[in-house]
Amino acid sequence: MQGMNAERLALGTILVAVLVLGLKLVAWWLTGSVALLSDALESLVNVGGAVMAWMAVHYAKRPADAGHPFGHYKAEYFSAVLEGIMIIIAALLILQQSVQALGNLSETVEWGRAGLLVNAVALVLNLLWARLLIARGGALKSPALTAGGRHLMSDVWTSVGVLLGLLLALATGWTVLDPLLALFVAVNILREGYGVVASSVNGLMDSAAPEEERDQIEELLHHAAAGALQVHGLKTRRAGVALFVECHMVVDGSMTVQASHTICDHIEEAIRSTFPEAQVTIHVEPEHKLEPSGIAPG
Ligand SMILES: [Zn+2]
Ligand SMILES: [Zn+2]
Repeated sequence: MQGMNAERLALGTILVAVLVLGLKLVAWWLTGSVALLSDALESLVNVGGAVMAWMAVHYAKRPADAGHPFGHYKAEYFSAVLEGIMIIIAALLILQQSVQALGNLSETVEWGRAGLLVNAVALVLNLLWARLLIARGGALKSPALTAGGRHLMSDVWTSVGVLLGLLLALATGWTVLDPLLALFVAVNILREGYGVVASSVNGLMDSAAPEEERDQIEELLHHAAAGALQVHGLKTRRAGVALFVECHMVVDGSMTVQASHTICDHIEEAIRSTFPEAQVTIHVEPEHKLEPSGIAPG
């Protein structure tokens, strides 16, 4: 398992999510607990997320072709928007179920303990897989895998909270704990959903690279553009794992195409040495295009 690549890990994540969903549904069926139902629906979100992550690995990494000359990177944002919609539906379902349960509290807690045990098995499975994803994500330098693992870890903590709460309900007979825990899970799912939708909408809107990456690129341009007069008009955008960089480079108007092209090559190499996934486009200009503010090479 230690040698698994990103695509195998993505497939494994689907299998684990389906298995965990099945176990959690059995736990709900054995108990009738709304909190365990909401825990199961949270896993449904994870199944959707896992399928989409696999599609992203599989489809987004296809090389550019005639129909999609900039690559297929944005595929993963569409899948993330769909996941966001599923998350919202799941949270609304839980809210409806918990409000219904709050208005219809039973006198006694009569869940079989078997249901709690089945849920605990699912929890351990999630925990083990989360740890594997975090370890392999670090080794493969894949932020997506690491983020997936962290997400699963946060689900594990939610499930621990639910199980402890239900044990407390069993011990004390406080039936109200069940719908209250379900509401707690619903809020957590909405929070997760908001994060997924916000980051994918940003991606679809061609948001710039994060500020620290832009600073790094400016620093690289400052060193690599030696021989040019100025670099200005830097634009960056992220599309999934891809990074697009555009800028204008002002040179002495009498410089040969050969010489200015060599500087362009230096810039591209420098940016790719730090951002291997970068696609760089440089527009060359003569000195009357100098701008008041720009990056001075040197
Ligand atoms: Zn989740
Ligand atoms: Zn310009």
